[in-house]
Amino acid sequence: MEKTHPQGASRGAQDAGASRPALKAGIVGAGIAGASCAGTLAAAGWEVEVFDKARGAGGRLSSRRLHAGWVTLGAPFVSARNTPFRGQAEAWLRQGWLVPLTGDILHGRANKGWAHARLKDHYLPAIETSQLVRHLMGGATLHTRTHVTALQPRTLILEEGRTLGDFDYVICSVPVPQAMPMLDALPQLRERLTDVRYRPIWSFLMRWEGGPAADVIKFDDHLLDMAVRQVTADPNLWVVHSSYEFAETYLEASEMEASTRAASALLGLLGLPWPVEVEASHRWRYARPENPVGGHWLSDPEKRVALIGDGIAGAGIERAWESGVQLAQAILQARD
Ligand SMILES: Cc1cc2nc3c(=O)[nH]c(=O)nc-3n(C[C@H](O)[C@H](O)[C@H](O)COP(=O)(O)OP(=O)(O)OC[C@H]3O[C@@H](n4cnc5c(N)ncnc54)[C@H](O)[C@@H]3O)c2cc1C
Repeated sequence: MEKTHPQGASRGAQDAGASRPALKAGIVGAGIAGASCAGTLAAAGWEVEVFDKARGAGGRLSSRRLHAGWVTLGAPFVSARNTPFRGQAEAWLRQGWLVPLTGDILHGRANKGWAHARLKDHYLPAIETSQLVRHLMGGATLHTRTHVTALQPRTLILEEGRTLGDFDYVICSVPVPQAMPMLDALPQLRERLTDVRYRPIWSFLMRWEGGPAADVIKFDDHLLDMAVRQVTADPNLWVVHSSYEFAETYLEASEMEASTRAASALLGLLGLPWPVEVEASHRWRYARPENPVGGHWLSDPEKRVALIGDGIAGAGIERAWESGVQLAQAILQARD
């Protein structure tokens, strides 16, 4: 199990309260919801441990390092529409971690023509998206490659069989279909999740020559949704997202088959005479939720267990971030 101990700004707050033992939170999932919750609690002096089965933070905002830089096969943009998250986005803009989305955005397809489009309040990450999420955690401790299999009051059970107890609050921020099997001991929470569905997306890292001069292409098509130029690695590299329908049709297909289908659809959409290279792909089985539970979080305050993330609060980075911050603030207020 890899462990990292960043010396975040919140260490001071923790030290200041050293006379009282710090309250402890265990958080499953180091996506933006888990990270924003972890950072808010850690900044208030809580001892926070975050467990993620992946190799690093980020979840659907994770990034991949390439020789020439980094790319993300997950969410390509951060959009900030409402006040609390706008403040966070502005802080990231000042730090140079986000930049406004400018450049050419086209909508259409080669045989029907291209129109210029605008994406309002959208920003591009200028640092690795995994790092953006990692920074949110502040002084929390992140345990990577740590698969949690069950949640119980005060307790997390790990895949390797270890039981971690003694938490003052246990929080789960994973997509709802992945949370359900962890909630055998919490049937009242689990039954609130039964209507939540997620839709999948296949993402492809592709390279081509020619095509329209653009940085973002929104396709007028039922198979492919959009392509985003990967300026942080190599401007000839693009990440192409499938439609939900494409991903549902090829959900169980091999990477090879899905890539071949997507590359051939792309040739037609861009009107390219030569083949497209597919360098990597990722199937996001739980890309975006439909029918989220609603509200910011779902909790059993007596058992001190709560669920956050986009399956509760609604699709998108902004809602996921807010659900983590709002739960942490509610926990802190309840303690006060
Ligand atoms: C291709 C794609 C494009 C998108 N585009 C946009 C966009 O343009 N704008 C936008 O706002 N949103 C977009 N989204 C959605 C956005 O990325 C998500 O809404 C948001 O990142 C969800 O964050 P989260 O913290 O709720 O969940 P996640 O990011 O999924 O985090 C959950 C974490 O839990 C971990 N985990 C799961 N199970 C376990 C377990 N058993 N034990 C330990 N850890 C576990 C996972 O590894 C993951 O790190 C997109 C998503 C995808 C996939």
